[in-house]
Parts: sequence; structure tokens; C-alpha cells
Amino acid sequence: MKLEVNRKLLVQEIEELATISDAPAPAVTRIVFSQTDLKARAWLKARCEEAGLTVRQDPIGNTFARWAGSDAKAPAVGTGSHIDAIPNAGKYDGVVGVLGGLEAIRALRRSGFRPKHSIELLVFTSEEPTRFGIGCLGSRLLSGSMSPDQATKLVDKDGASVDEVRKNAGMQGSLDEVKLTTGYYKAFLELHIEQGPLLERQQIPLGIVTNIAAPASLRLTIEGSGGHAGAVLMSDRRDALCAAAEVILAIENEARMTGGADTVATVGMCDVFPGAVNSIPSQVRLSLDVRDTNLHRRDAVLRAINSAVQTISGKRHVSASQELLNADAPAECAPLIREVLARSCAEHRRAFAPIVSRAYHDSLFMSRVAPVAMLFIACRNGYSHRPDEYASPEDIEAGVLVLAETLAALAS
Ligand SMILES: [Zn+2]
Repeated sequence: MKLEVNRKLLVQEIEELATISDAPAPAVTRIVFSQTDLKARAWLKARCEEAGLTVRQDPIGNTFARWAGSDAKAPAVGTGSHIDAIPNAGKYDGVVGVLGGLEAIRALRRSGFRPKHSIELLVFTSEEPTRFGIGCLGSRLLSGSMSPDQATKLVDKDGASVDEVRKNAGMQGSLDEVKLTTGYYKAFLELHIEQGPLLERQQIPLGIVTNIAAPASLRLTIEGSGGHAGAVLMSDRRDALCAAAEVILAIENEARMTGGADTVATVGMCDVFPGAVNSIPSQVRLSLDVRDTNLHRRDAVLRAINSAVQTISGKRHVSASQELLNADAPAECAPLIREVLARSCAEHRRAFAPIVSRAYHDSLFMSRVAPVAMLFIACRNGYSHRPDEYASPEDIEAGVLVLAETLAALAS
């Protein structure tokens, strides 16, 4: 089998897909089920059909493009990622795994390879949380990590429900039909840019992911007492924002002290009420995102944060409440698939490093229903979710080549 990646075509397709965007180039904005997203989906479907794949869509819009294997009863080997993009993002996040996956399949077809197991390109709906406030909507439903009932309750900022929005976008059928049957996939592999600087720093083009960190997100609400910024003396104040400032620093401290090197905690949002220059803040809402590759350690950090919040609110006479938005378990990538990936790297003389995925991906949820693995491609300065996100054509080609070789080994 002589595998050759058509680098020129792949780069051209990445550029072309990037033009289907709601933001001016080089930025890419593609929010799930927007007109732009639907246009991108149609474009991609045409590319898959040109490649001879059979395309179907499930009721949440996850798209499956299949190359049927010689054994129709054997479980499929899947690969894929997402094409939705947060506002003002780049052109590689997700897209490299989708168009790279497609090119891996085309390279295998050109080589004369015939799979025993069907090979399927899977494009997940709404990996990004932009529209419905929760990431990986498609893979959560595919894996049963979220019930159709929970999904139906999600609304966008205009109050439109998932059901309304998907049906308007032409996705028919009941969400009950989305969950995959156990054993549907023999293996699932996601090719993705690293979104961090580690591979580039080591000057290694590829990373074989060992673990995917477990995210948890919470909303903290601190209630103090408002009042006139001139009239209320400092000794009488219960300023919610001052309490929140202490809470934010306590969160940083707990992540460092209670957590380990792989623990990260971020407060990315802070809403202050009433938000006037001459008014003491009476209420503050904070977002909290905590991640770790170790579930016990992450939960220990969450408990430590909780107790710090109680201490601070007691001391400052404010009240604090928290709402857990999601807490997912980490995933270990399947050692057997990692071995096949490593062998494929050796076969094509491509260097790789083992690496932890600190961002979460659809593969985290797919790991509940299939053995998964992820292959990372180095990206410039580790930049992602910004217009200057970049991975070199050489590194992308290396990733696609190794992906194709691995798909062939798994589908034989
Ligand atoms: Zn992504």
C-alpha cells in the first residue's frame, strides 16, 4: 500500500471552508445551525460524496460519511471532529480533523486499500458551546452522556430551543434516535491541532494523546448588599464584588496548592449588578472552569474552592451559592490504538511525543461508547480560537498520513 496525501488539495479545501464564515478573513465564525454553518455543511457533504462516501445525518445534525467495508456486520472505524467555530476563531480547530480525515480516506482509496471494517468520517454538531452554552452537544447525545430530555431544554440567547433550531435547520426525527448502539465503533480517532505550545517547543510535529482532561464548570453567585457609593460607610458595607475578588484569588490559589501540574482553574466571566459607578455591587455572578486529568484531584480542588467561598462569605457577611453546570470524567485514550498510532508514526518516520489534552474534545464523550485515541498536530505558538491560529501544511500532512495508516490497520 503506497499512501500519498494530496497536501495541495487539502490546504486548498481548508482555505475554501474558511471562506464560509460570518467574520472577515482571516477570522472564522461559524455558529451551529446558522445559515453559514448550513452552507459549510452542504459544501462538506458535496466533498464527501465526490470522494464516493455515503452521507447520512442524525436528528441533531451529526454527519456520517461512510466507506463501506467488505464485512457489513463488523463495527466501523470512525474518525472526525467538528467544523463549528467560535466568534473570531481560526481555520484549523476541528477542521483539520474533518478535512484531514476525509483526505486520509481518499488517500486510502487511491492506494487501492480495501477495508474489512467500514471507515466512517464523523462530523459532530456543536462542539463549541457558543450557541447553547454547553460544548460537545452532538457527541454528548451520541454517547448518552446527555439525555434527549436534557438537550431539549437547552435554549440559545434568543430563547429558541435546540429542538426548534435544529428543525428549522432541516434536522428531522427524534433526539431519542441519536445515541449510538454499543459496539457501533471498533475505534474512534480524532485528529486535532494541539491548541497549546508543547509540541512546537519540542519541535515535534505530532502528539499521541494519553489522557483528555476532565472539565467541570460552575456558576457562583455572591449576594451582598447594595447602596449609595457615597452614603454607605466602609464599615457598613457588604460589597459583593470585593468578596468576589477574594474568591477569584482563592480559586487561583487552590488550583495551585490543592491541585497538581495538570490542574487549571479559570474565572472567565464576572457579571456585576447593578453595575453603576456610584452604586455598591449587590450581586456578582462568576463563571468557574476547573480541569484536570485526575478526577479525584479535580474534585478535591472543587471542594477546597467551595470551602474557601464559605469562609470568605462568612467573613464578609455575604451569601454565596453555586450551580454545577457540568462535571465530566476524564478519559484515557485506548492503549491499543495508541500503539497502532505509534507504529504508524514509525512506519512513516514521523516523530511524535506523548501528550495530555487539556482542552476537551468530542473524543472525551466518544470514549463512553468506543475506544478512542487522539492525534495532535503542532500549532504555531500554541494559538487557537483566534484568527492567527496556524498549523503548517507539512505537519498537517504528517498527521493525515499517520491517521490514514492507522485507519487502515484498524479497518483491516
Ligand atoms: Zn476543536
